[in-house]
Amino acid sequence: MRSLATLLFELTPALCPACGRSCRSSAALCTRCSRRLAEAKPLAGHSASGLDQVWSSAPHEGVARDLVTALKFRRLLPVAATIAERIEWLAPESLLSGAIVPVPSTRLRSLGRGFDPAAEIAAALALRTRLSLRPVLSRADFGRQLGRRRAQRIGRPPHVGLRGEAPRSVLLVDDVMTTGATLAACARALRGGGSIRVAAITFTRRP
Ligand SMILES: [Zn+2]
Repeated sequence: MRSLATLLFELTPALCPACGRSCRSSAALCTRCSRRLAEAKPLAGHSASGLDQVWSSAPHEGVARDLVTALKFRRLLPVAATIAERIEWLAPESLLSGAIVPVPSTRLRSLGRGFDPAAEIAAALALRTRLSLRPVLSRADFGRQLGRRRAQRIGRPPHVGLRGEAPRSVLLVDDVMTTGATLAACARALRGGGSIRVAAITFTRRP
């Protein structure tokens, strides 16, 4: 016998997480959005300091940006699987190695949301690639940044700390790359703990 939850799930029309239109229940995105996402070009070659390689699956615009929003604010978990699928398909094979380390979000951010997008994408990617998942980084800038004005916060590099053993070879994973300052801070903490190779993948990248 099917549970009430399963029954309700089956009766609810599937909605595309990017545009909100109804779509086939088996598809994570509607046909139009998946075609648009397929047209988005990956970005490689940013030289964030301390990183051996940085790759992003799409610019932070259109359907890709809508998926980040859906994951962040509407907590649509299947979106993390869709994002991980795109990354696994398109990322250079040499990048998909080492231990997956999610870029830590601030405690403030994840508390407000009860949810951490980078951690969800990292977990989904680890599942697909069978790479190990090692959440060894944490953000230490919770209290310190709270009282600062936004303009002051933006200019300051985030404080990232190591809370476990640093893997020798690391693949950092985040949802969005902005300036690369957070990735650089993560790389610094990891190399300080003994990591030899630090590469990074983000789903989108802001121009
Ligand atoms: Zn759509």
